[in-house]
Amino acid sequence: MGCRAQINIRGDCLANIPTIQRLIESLPKEVRTCSKCQEEAIVQVSEHLLHQDGGIPFGEAAIFGCDESLDKVIESVLRAQPALGDCFESKKS
Ligand SMILES: [Zn+2]
Repeated sequence: MGCRAQINIRGDCLANIPTIQRLIESLPKEVRTCSKCQEEAIVQVSEHLLHQDGGIPFGEAAIFGCDESLDKVIESVLRAQPALGDCFESKKS
């Protein structure tokens, strides 16, 4: 273990979260999963965002995983939809 990390999704990209989520879930498991620690990259959205209907979206979303799985997942997402590059903040551990 020890390589856990996360990438936050920018607040102005919240509308793209379903797309990002779909893209990540459609990736093969070996792409989503770290070969060293088996940590799987997943998109998590904070509670109030999920329960929000209408109005201005607020809350937080991030992709959790580890160094390796996040790199692989982001690379694949950007290959599929380069425009989403602006949605991701830099990776932090
Ligand atoms: Zn790992």
